Amino acid sequence: MNRNHEKYRKLLEIARRVRPDSKILKMNRSVDEYLKGQLRHSGAYHSASWLYFGIEEAEECQKTIKPNVWVALQEDGSVAIGLAFNANPSVTWAANILKGYSADVKERLFAHLESGGLDWKAVVQRRTKFHPSGRPIYTEEYSVLISELGGKIEEIITQSIRVRDEYRAQASLLKDDPRRCDKTTGKIIDPSGGVSFNLIEKRLPDDAEEFAKAFAFAHDALEICLKIKTPAQHKREMNKKYNAWQCRSGNCKKLHDPVKTRVQVCEKCGTNTKPVGITKEKWMETFGYAPDEIEVKE
Ligand SMILES: [Zn+2]
Repeated sequence: MNRNHEKYRKLLEIARRVRPDSKILKMNRSVDEYLKGQLRHSGAYHSASWLYFGIEEAEECQKTIKPNVWVALQEDGSVAIGLAFNANPSVTWAANILKGYSADVKERLFAHLESGGLDWKAVVQRRTKFHPSGRPIYTEEYSVLISELGGKIEEIITQSIRVRDEYRAQASLLKDDPRRCDKTTGKIIDPSGGVSFNLIEKRLPDDAEEFAKAFAFAHDALEICLKIKTPAQHKREMNKKYNAWQCRSGNCKKLHDPVKTRVQVCEKCGTNTKPVGITKEKWMETFGYAPDEIEVKE
């Protein structure tokens, strides 16, 4: 057992102690069993390694659309921790969260982020890969202090799209094109890389108390992020139709609230009405409240 393994074991024990009810810490497994799975994947028997905490198993955390919390021991003995949206579609999802398509969740998330201290930052990274199943190299492309995040959302989105598109363009060049090579290593880049976004990230000294505090903060931010609908769920929701009544007269077409009025006849022009499906957005614009609030009365 090497030194890193023992250190990771301690960090995992602290994580479980501060968030004993966590769904992402896989409490049904012993610390050793959990750690073994984690480290086999991330290669902790070598110098660089991570722990991943997410809905999925560690090996899936890097590829899934869902965000995860990661912890990585650094060569200088410090500990890095972050909350990452790692795959390209996952970064798009993060951008949607920041833009606020789930306004209530965004509000909770920002309230939480503001409570976490000033030394966290949000980071857009280039995620360079040389093989689909190989480990990525992360390079910081843009970062902003968490206290300034609210005013930099457009910039974060712009930078994320830039990194993604630049990588995509480079990775689509022919393999014998010298421009396809990574500048630092000279190796040919693989299309499976792209952009990665850390909503929060920081480094801390190897100190149990500080780690406990940082882990709890990152963990709770992750729980809030996981409450936000995925882009597919969001799209389904946006396209979902709710029943209303519409006037059959082509000149009128007035919509009537089916819950409050239950009209057979248009209250404006007297023409008969017909049932129609309208989106949530249209419903809110027309009736001034969300269709989810409808009480179904027998
Ligand atoms: Zn009418």
